[in-house]
Amino acid sequence: MYDIGKIYEAHTVEEAVNLRLEHPEAVIIAGGSDVLIKVRSGKLAGADLISIQGVDELRGVHMEKDGTLVIGSLTSFSHITADPLIGSCIRVLGEAADKVGGPQIRAVGTVGGNTCNGVTSADTASTLLAYDAIVELAGGTEDEGRTGGNAENAGGQMARNPGAGGADSQRRIARRLVPLEKFYLGPGRTDVRPGEIQTCLRIPVESYENHYGFYIKFGMRNAMEIATVGCSVNVKLSEDKKYLDDLRIAFGVAGPVPMRAHETEKKFKGAALTAQTVTEIGSSVLSEVHPRDSWRAPKNMRRHLCRTMTQDALCEAVRRAGGMIAGMKADQDGARDFMDITLFPDAGAADGQE
Ligand SMILES: Cc1cc2nc3c(=O)[nH]c(=O)nc-3n(C[C@H](O)[C@H](O)[C@H](O)COP(=O)(O)OP(=O)(O)OC[C@H]3O[C@@H](n4cnc5c(N)ncnc54)[C@H](O)[C@@H]3O)c2cc1C
Repeated sequence: MYDIGKIYEAHTVEEAVNLRLEHPEAVIIAGGSDVLIKVRSGKLAGADLISIQGVDELRGVHMEKDGTLVIGSLTSFSHITADPLIGSCIRVLGEAADKVGGPQIRAVGTVGGNTCNGVTSADTASTLLAYDAIVELAGGTEDEGRTGGNAENAGGQMARNPGAGGADSQRRIARRLVPLEKFYLGPGRTDVRPGEIQTCLRIPVESYENHYGFYIKFGMRNAMEIATVGCSVNVKLSEDKKYLDDLRIAFGVAGPVPMRAHETEKKFKGAALTAQTVTEIGSSVLSEVHPRDSWRAPKNMRRHLCRTMTQDALCEAVRRAGGMIAGMKADQDGARDFMDITLFPDAGAADGQE
């Protein structure tokens, strides 16, 4: 049995926000695949819950007039993988979502839950980071001066829904935009503020157009296993397909929260597509990642994975973009068998939130 306090059910964003304001201690539950585990393990025993399962406006994927892709926070992994817009514009996200847990978890787990749990191993997080995703949050306010801290970082966009009244007719629903990278505040901590819910993830057209990518998840087995390391690489090639016009490398479990390798990206922007470039990019990310020991894998194994997975994801992304890597041997091109790793017998000690 689950030891749950009260359950409040929302059917609109406005209702969800009002419930958040009225019951600040209550925990949002979407698919429940994280929350209910915590209820059962005792971490959230007796907690009051705000269910957003009935907020249909948060479900699904659409494209705005300017080409921005909008992925509702309540969209399940299996929906994301099957969605035609995801398949045609940001295929890698569909592939990453398909690597989560097993079919049951993919049917109930949501992209909102996967990013709001603040966990570094979240399978969609690194791919969303490699697409420069922006988080949209909705919060209630009675103060016309509310401006939401990070909105300017995402272009200063702040929209008000003048129609939203809620329990208190003076209340407004304010939308706040935060780049996904800034949304992570620390292990298990995100920038969802009191009175807010995450409503969607937005991917601007310039973040995906002409970009090709690949996500690799290394786990100790193929299903029902969180990532030991996850790596997502996006590239945009020059017209002659010989140079890296844009490079984005994102990791899960390479640090306390999902992260980008910005220094490496900057250093190799414009680089020629050669085997040496691929090798150097793999080595370069090692100065940016900070994995740790856990019972799943020691730090040095994770560092090894960060290097080799970057190289392999890069090769596959380039191949998808129609490019060729000069001097690359045939057996180096494409994802290798990561289960081949027989090194690193010294598994580390501490575990924590991965
Ligand atoms: C057996 C099993 C296997 C799993 N395997 C994987 C895996 O391989 N890869 C992986 O990444 N994850 C895995 N998970 C973890 C989990 O399924 C995902 O993190 C999932 O995305 C959580 O989504 P949810 O809708 O179920 O979230 P919930 O459990 O409902 O919520 C998760 C957290 O997010 C908050 N939240 C949810 N939605 C919102 C919102 N819209 N606004 C604000 N806060 C919100 C909740 O309050 C809670 O803190 C696994 C879980 C289980 C039980």
